[in-house]
Amino acid sequence: MVALLAACASPSSPRDVNPNDTARYTPGVSYFGRNQYIEYIAGDLPVILSAPHGGSLRPDEIPDRTYGTTVTDLNTAELARAVDSALVRLTGKHAHVVMVRLHRTKLDANREITEGAQGDAEAEQAWREFHGFLNDAKEAVNRRYTGGLYIDLHGHGHTIQRLELGYLLDADDLGHPDDSLDTQPAYEVLSSIRTLSVRSPLSFSELLRGPSSLGALLEAEGYPAVPSHTTPDPGTDEYFAGGFNTFVHGCRVGGVICGVQIESNRIGVRDTEENRRRFGSALAQVIARYLELHYTLDITP
Ligand SMILES: [Zn+2]
Repeated sequence: MVALLAACASPSSPRDVNPNDTARYTPGVSYFGRNQYIEYIAGDLPVILSAPHGGSLRPDEIPDRTYGTTVTDLNTAELARAVDSALVRLTGKHAHVVMVRLHRTKLDANREITEGAQGDAEAEQAWREFHGFLNDAKEAVNRRYTGGLYIDLHGHGHTIQRLELGYLLDADDLGHPDDSLDTQPAYEVLSSIRTLSVRSPLSFSELLRGPSSLGALLEAEGYPAVPSHTTPDPGTDEYFAGGFNTFVHGCRVGGVICGVQIESNRIGVRDTEENRRRFGSALAQVIARYLELHYTLDITP
């Protein structure tokens, strides 16, 4: 893991920082919390990526968690780096990327702190650093842009090889027809794209699964996704609706940085370096298009 880090990290020397201080960050440089359990690549785009379940470190000082899920999302930190690299190629600028380097047996940063860190002081510190870096990233986006997109990146083990986009609406919610989703404001209010939808001339359902939705844009790049214009809801298939990070760091609770959880399938997306590079390029294009269409933000030079 150390060798991998050295290979992937910025040539600038990493620095240890307190995520909650007012240190200035340089885009493209990696910053770490205590013992390098959490890594933050500072950015200058209105795009924030996190990978809470892609770590592999199992330090003795943190006891194994005794309840909750401990399965890792294979190659999702590498996938986040691939998306950032593609955004740099496309725009000349970096996304903000926050990654947990601890194995999920030690920390789950996509749960509230009680379940995520289970009372261990070092795990709690890493949990606070992860969310502190995300808050710093959001501050940086808010200082510079009129809105932003947060993506919490995961990997699912479900049979159907497609991207599951989580907006905090479950399969039952998504099973309602468009006019029901659009006329009952509760769905919009409960979603992780709440303020984007309020500001958008499009209806909530169009933003969620219309021809210019995130799912539709990903499908146009060759990556099946739900919800989308072709697959408006998962029906009875396995589906992740979005978790703690999407709730806390998306715009359901306010603000203009809206969010989505992307649960990626393994085959063709994150299984090989070449597939991660290809998906990274596609998602970078989709992010740029999405920001242009729905935020009127042009991030291409
Ligand atoms: Zn996950």
